[in-house]
Amino acid sequence: MREGLLPMPLYEYRCVDCGPFDVSAPMSDVRPTTACPACAAESLRAVTAPRLGRGRTAAMRVLDSTARTASEPAVVSGAIPGSPRTPPRPVTTDPRHRMLPRP
Ligand SMILES: [Zn+2]
Repeated sequence: MREGLLPMPLYEYRCVDCGPFDVSAPMSDVRPTTACPACAAESLRAVTAPRLGRGRTAAMRVLDSTARTASEPAVVSGAIPGSPRTPPRPVTTDPRHRMLPRP
């Protein structure tokens, strides 16, 4: 895998004058201070969790919805609309069994 394709975590820095800004850098190259992109002042890194993803992926949404159904199952009040109801299959096809008493 090429270096450019690797996702890099985002780190938050805070400029005293301009406020917070994000810097994307490899974990091995994180510095405690960096220059503000607006005023070039030396800015301290804020203590935050590194944001490794670029938002919620499809896999994260599926995992979240699956975990939610475990604690909050959807209430089912009937058959799924549009699903055909299959008639019960006869237990036997022997014509003599039709004469037996039925419950
Ligand atoms: Zn600044």
